[in-house]
Amino acid sequence: MSDLVIHNLHVNIGDREVLKGLDLVIEQGKVHALMGPNGNGKSTLAYAIMGHPAYTVTAGEILFKGQNILELEPDQRSRLGIFLAFQYPVAIPGVSVANFLRTALNSRRKAVNPEDKGIPIPEFRRLLRERMDLLKMDHAFAGRYLNDGFSGGEKKRAEVLQMATLRPEIAILDETDSGLDIDALRIVSEGVNALRGPGMGVLVITHYQRILNYIKPDYVHILLNGSIVECGGPELALHLEEHGYDWIREKVNS
Ligand code: ADP
Ligand code: MG
Repeated sequence: MSDLVIHNLHVNIGDREVLKGLDLVIEQGKVHALMGPNGNGKSTLAYAIMGHPAYTVTAGEILFKGQNILELEPDQRSRLGIFLAFQYPVAIPGVSVANFLRTALNSRRKAVNPEDKGIPIPEFRRLLRERMDLLKMDHAFAGRYLNDGFSGGEKKRAEVLQMATLRPEIAILDETDSGLDIDALRIVSEGVNALRGPGMGVLVITHYQRILNYIKPDYVHILLNGSIVECGGPELALHLEEHGYDWIREKVNS
């Protein structure tokens, strides 16, 4: 029911076409991995799903909960239950992690129930502490300005903390593994695994197999030159790890 259905998606950055008729269904309750060489449009897909204004959809549709979300603003898409963990998170000096998360959470609660008065502060503090413990984060993190002076690994954890607090129905993780050392990767992956379940579909974007050892995907898709060219199970990621992308380029071109 709450699958995210992408059909024949064409996306331009400026006058350059980056996505060229992409089809993908992110199933509710499943973990999908999206792999592909750099520069082939993985982040472009993530931004187009979220509604980034620099990414112009010229054809196709993205359906979620019975509507074409391309007509919605990014904040409306977020309130509908779609979440993106950025590849390159932006710092927001002056806004603490706790304030940011409470505002975002209340906005999402209000979208579900217009009568909602917002989460009581003690309950929010408890929730935040619990989620930070899940990700083995120091509680002092909550008082710091969002991403301001954070290390690469801290930024990625802060993204997953947002996901863990907002509990989206569709979560897109764009190269959350990059910049994480092996311990942080394991902790972040355990966090995602603790949250996965029938209520959440996940799209893990990566170009390394490594994170998929921890977050086991149900499906693996390969994005090459603006469209999905191959789909399979976890074995496809292992095959890529061993053989690289050349075989798939040759197969597509023949
Ligand atoms: P991936 O995430 O797979 O590495 P991207 O979606 O980021 O790839 O990029 C796809 C293509 O679009 C690349 O050739 C990249 O150089 C180009 N591109 C991405 N962002 C911009 C931008 N802001 N302006 C111009 N070109 C861009
Ligand atoms: Mg990218």
